[in-house]
Amino acid sequence: MNNPRIVIDAGHGGTDGGSSGNGIVEKDLTLAISKYMYDRFRELGIPVTMTRTTDETLSPTTRVERIMNAYGDEPGVIVISNHINAGGGAGHCVTNV
Ligand SMILES: [Zn+2]
Repeated sequence: MNNPRIVIDAGHGGTDGGSSGNGIVEKDLTLAISKYMYDRFRELGIPVTMTRTTDETLSPTTRVERIMNAYGDEPGVIVISNHINAGGGAGHCVTNV
């Protein structure tokens, strides 16, 4: 892919904790994973940004605005939205995006 640019979205945040279990809250784990991914892409020299870097509440509108404002919607822009399911058979979590 030519000119890849990556937007990492740490799911949930702030008042929206997402799933939780065994002492783990989804918003914290998605942020930790997102920060790790951010650092690795930076080490590889790939342009990358994040929708949030702190425990911040993002409205769906703000989240999408940050994604779109990062690099626009041109070819080569990859959006990775991190979520951690709590288990069970549904195969998805409730998200505000
Ligand atoms: Zn989620």
